[in-house]
Amino acid sequence: MVHNGVDDPRIATSDGHRPIKSHTVEDYVSTQEKIESIFAEVVRRNPGEKEFHQAVREVLESVVPVLDKHPEYAEAKIIERICEPERQIIFRVPWEDDRGEVHINRGFRVEFNSALGPYKGGLRFHPSVYLGIVKFLGFEQLFKNALTGMPIGGGKGGSDFDPKGRSDREVMRFCQSFMTELYRHIGEYTDVPAGDIGVGSREIGYLFGQYKRITNRYESGVLTGKGLSYGGAQVRREATGYGTVFFAEEMLKVTGDSLEGKRVVVSGSGNVAIYAIEKVHQLGGTVIACSDSSGYVHDEQGIDLELLKEIKEVRRGRIEEYAQTRQHATFVPHRSVWEVPCQVALPCATQNEIDASDAATMVANGCTLVVEGANMPTTPKAIRIFSEAGVRFAPGKAANAGGVAASALEMQQNATRDSWSFAYSEQKLREIMQNIHTRCYATAEEYGMPGNYVAGANIDGFRAVADAMLAQGLI
Ligand code: NDP
Repeated sequence: MVHNGVDDPRIATSDGHRPIKSHTVEDYVSTQEKIESIFAEVVRRNPGEKEFHQAVREVLESVVPVLDKHPEYAEAKIIERICEPERQIIFRVPWEDDRGEVHINRGFRVEFNSALGPYKGGLRFHPSVYLGIVKFLGFEQLFKNALTGMPIGGGKGGSDFDPKGRSDREVMRFCQSFMTELYRHIGEYTDVPAGDIGVGSREIGYLFGQYKRITNRYESGVLTGKGLSYGGAQVRREATGYGTVFFAEEMLKVTGDSLEGKRVVVSGSGNVAIYAIEKVHQLGGTVIACSDSSGYVHDEQGIDLELLKEIKEVRRGRIEEYAQTRQHATFVPHRSVWEVPCQVALPCATQNEIDASDAATMVANGCTLVVEGANMPTTPKAIRIFSEAGVRFAPGKAANAGGVAASALEMQQNATRDSWSFAYSEQKLREIMQNIHTRCYATAEEYGMPGNYVAGANIDGFRAVADAMLAQGLI
């Protein structure tokens, strides 16, 4: 327990919290030391999971002043409990390709924390997936979901399966095998997966079909991101990208600015990237470059979204094909899209895609706003460079929460057998993003770090989860 020597931390106030103490340098140092020792223990217990360590480190650094104000969190070992998933499931996924060859992949579902509701978070199918990636994503998800203010806990899953180049039937067989194990762990009141990298509406359809077949239940609320023909919700497909741009718009509003006329670079060209580009264009900005893992395309006239959708959503092709059709656009293989000068950057591809050298280039090129559509795309060193250069920065756990928020709206519609219009759903999404922005902004101010959205998001998300955990006893 962290004692302050001024107030008696055992006396609770009417809101259930111990009194806020005036904190001394000694208290702060001792809280910091405690955090260091908790972090060392997380590293020891989860060896080799570097992305998970990175995600934990960032949150722990932010919550030092919260622990200092609320010794009851430390007393109940909230941080230690939050860093340990409630349940981790690892399973074999055997499947057969079109030539009859058998493949074995590994499946994961990490049910991180259910203090706020059923576990909720996507599935990622990508060859880089291992336990450390799933745990980092699950950990981030927990605070993100808390920020939405909706009744959803945090979880994440996936597999090291690579859908790229696989036929529809191969993807279907893989999804069926994956669900043949996963079904026993999920349910509308237990754990509700959705999509992420490599898992879009095609995969969700196959997963839902197999769940229904095994359980003999048409349980719409067991998965989100479903197609509109069988229980999906309007705006879910667009929600993460749109939400990221709504968040950017709110940040710009704070300084009396807007996206109108801005040069914007978006990384990736998947679900999040495509709908971020769409919304930037609708709000008057111009996206001049986007990418995939093979390189990037630069189109000074603005990315032609219909062409990009045709290549990526219909043909499942490579970004290079864009420049083959749009003659004035250039394809630059194997280089970082962040070398293209822009005022606003929306990283929407994958974790740690903006490193220190990218950040230095972006600052030198005049970038003033970075809003994460992907999960943890910016390395800690790059975030530091942005902060020192006065570049305003929003972390994914706040800025990309539109996807999971729309999933929660899908669950709500499934539960009431209702179906909302596109315009109504988009308005709801916009309000949710505005609310998350307000929460992060206000919390950063409350803790004396105005404009620090990383601190605001981590502290606000953490407090929501911690209070629910305290209320539910030692579980
Ligand atoms: P998709 O699979 O639809 O698209 C991913 C995109 O990122 C592709 O263009 C892919 O290129 C590119 N990409 C992946 N890895 C790399 C890499 N190492 N270098 C360069 N480009 C890469 O995934 P989503 O759009 O759904 O997800 C993107 C990010 O957004 C992820 O971080 C995800 O966790 C996050 N997110 C997604 C949500 C959702 O609702 N879908 C919700 C919240 C966050 P290629 O095809 O060549 O691999």
